[in-house]
Amino acid sequence: MHRTLEEIEADALQCRKCELCETRTTVVFGVGNPDAEVMFIGEAPGKQEDLGAEPFIGAAGKLLNRMLERAGINRPDIYIANVLKCRPPGNRDPRPDEIQLCSPYLREQVRAIDPDVIVTLGNFATKFILKTDKGITSLRGQAYTAGKFYVLPTFHPAAAIYDQSKLALLESDFDLLGELLRVARERKAAR
Ligand code: SF4
Repeated sequence: MHRTLEEIEADALQCRKCELCETRTTVVFGVGNPDAEVMFIGEAPGKQEDLGAEPFIGAAGKLLNRMLERAGINRPDIYIANVLKCRPPGNRDPRPDEIQLCSPYLREQVRAIDPDVIVTLGNFATKFILKTDKGITSLRGQAYTAGKFYVLPTFHPAAAIYDQSKLALLESDFDLLGELLRVARERKAAR
């Protein structure tokens, strides 16, 4: 029996397991539809997210919204969370020990939401979900299965804001997401 999102969030909001608790403004747990068929996983809160207590509300969030529209997905229908729940100072990369300490929250979130498709945004989320050392550039562009989930790795939107070549690939991955959701729905309907 898994815990509810509310129970997991109540724990995370009190968390002081790693040193990021000293520098964060807020714990950015995650937000969205608890029954989402697609869950997005990013890296860690940035400055805007740390202040607003919500993932993907800054510039990267605006680009994500555009990509969702492209795939025919409404943002309130998805669930979105990060690997780390607290902002690393200066937006530095998450450290392995921080990921290890924080990841139980994400694992429980995935179990509670039980999505059909997980979209991993960037290297950290992709490596965590697919348990791989390969980089996002070689992994993106196709779907994988991890347990019962379809997993679609793509670039973190922040990496595509000023890079037109990555933006084109991000768009192509969100087109693929639209297709993947159609397949996942058909598979579900056939059960
Ligand atoms: S990053 Fe995760 S493990 Fe570290 S204090 Fe925040 S919630 Fe706890």
